Amino acid sequence: MIERARAAGLTRILVPGYDLASSHAAVALAEAYPDLIDAAVGIHPHFADRPDAADWAELATLAAHPRVVAVGEIGLDFFRNHSPRAAQEAALERQLAMAADAGLPVLVHDREAHDAVRSALLAWPGPPGRAVRGVLHCYSGDAPLALELAASGYLISFALPVSFSSAHGPRDAAAALSDGTFLVETDSPWLAPGAAGARNEPTTALRVAAALARLRGTTPEAIAASAAKAYRVLVSG
Ligand SMILES: [Zn+2]
Repeated sequence: MIERARAAGLTRILVPGYDLASSHAAVALAEAYPDLIDAAVGIHPHFADRPDAADWAELATLAAHPRVVAVGEIGLDFFRNHSPRAAQEAALERQLAMAADAGLPVLVHDREAHDAVRSALLAWPGPPGRAVRGVLHCYSGDAPLALELAASGYLISFALPVSFSSAHGPRDAAAALSDGTFLVETDSPWLAPGAAGARNEPTTALRVAAALARLRGTTPEAIAASAAKAYRVLVSG
């Protein structure tokens, strides 16, 4: 799968964690493929009530690993509510503080929680000295929210739903954002193209880039160049 990604022309992949074990796995991948893969570490809102004090301390130590470029996925999911809202909000605040301490941007999951996520992200000062505070991953909001967050130092990341004609908010956002303020992603293992149960691979990002190109009246190559530039700013400061 990694060789297929390289052959398709992908140059950089950011692999996030969703709990402590997957965060360690992301770091291991980034160590094994330093020329292609970067790691993020974090506790997803679905698992916000799982870590104990030792787990949080271990996550903070892992965030300082040299192959870790962001804290994530973190955020709020008021659609599934797999963890109580209070636990989700506490985990988000804790990990925003952790990211600031580590000098890292954040990768943010926002499902049916736009107002609460917006408030938390605009209130967060971000990592000191960084141009980009974080990324709204698998963006599902509308254009005004995307523009406000982009103007506040957040990148907007699009997954395959932006290619669906029913995704009015994300499609409007994709058309309205400036170059250098968005990324493309797969949200693997979710949101695979094709039949249910199909595997989602890094190459799905090419379909997202093609959809963004259609929405923005440009070429997939121009989308790739813009996203690559935005990513470099995200990870380098
Ligand atoms: Zn997510």
